[in-house]
Amino acid sequence: MKTIGLIGGMSWESTVSYYQIVNEVIKKELGGLHSAKVLLYSVDFSEIEEYQSKGDWEKSGDVLSEAAMNLEKAGADFIVVCTNTMHKVAPQIQKKISIPILHIAEATADALHRSNIQKVALLGTKYTMTQDFYKEKLIDAGIEVLTPGEDEIETVNDIIYDELCLGIVSAESKGKYLHIIEELARKGAQGVILGCTEIGLLIQQKDTALPVFDTTQIHATKAALLSLDCA
Ligand code: GLU
Repeated sequence: MKTIGLIGGMSWESTVSYYQIVNEVIKKELGGLHSAKVLLYSVDFSEIEEYQSKGDWEKSGDVLSEAAMNLEKAGADFIVVCTNTMHKVAPQIQKKISIPILHIAEATADALHRSNIQKVALLGTKYTMTQDFYKEKLIDAGIEVLTPGEDEIETVNDIIYDELCLGIVSAESKGKYLHIIEELARKGAQGVILGCTEIGLLIQQKDTALPVFDTTQIHATKAALLSLDCA
């Protein structure tokens, strides 16, 4: 079994989910007392968030590159960055290490293809929804991406940073998300990407008729299967 190098803490609420999912997949695949081989480097999200809001992506990339280099040194076979947003600096991190990064948007594009989705709604941080680094992976894979309107982008983003990353899950915010998802379904989305690793704490498949693609679930599952060489 290969060793998974997780870069977590962004936020730690979703890193918990990654740890749980990789172990659940290994247990399902191998049975018995088997569990995932994992190294975790968890950063201080407050520092990262400060760089994000100042637009200093290079600095945030330096912090994550340092984490990745340490994971490689410690014996990780590949890197899993446990956030969609910070894949903005995935190319910067990759330059510093010789092991691969399992890209969250590429894993998601594969899952969309398997479900025959050609047009998808994307919810995530404002960076993920408005910038190109994430959407371009989906567009390159032949998938059309729908994002909410300006006001809704703010709503989705604020709920992520002010609530979900702090472990706050509220019925009111869930209602807001579901309303936005319905709107995007009306515009032709055949599925919705939960493109922020905390959204799965708020929205699950049982909440909507639209097929849900939870990036935490997709990414962590793929990591576990890759550790067994069967992704
Ligand atoms: N975990 C979130 C994501 O998947 C947001 C936190 C961050 O900015 O990294 O994008």
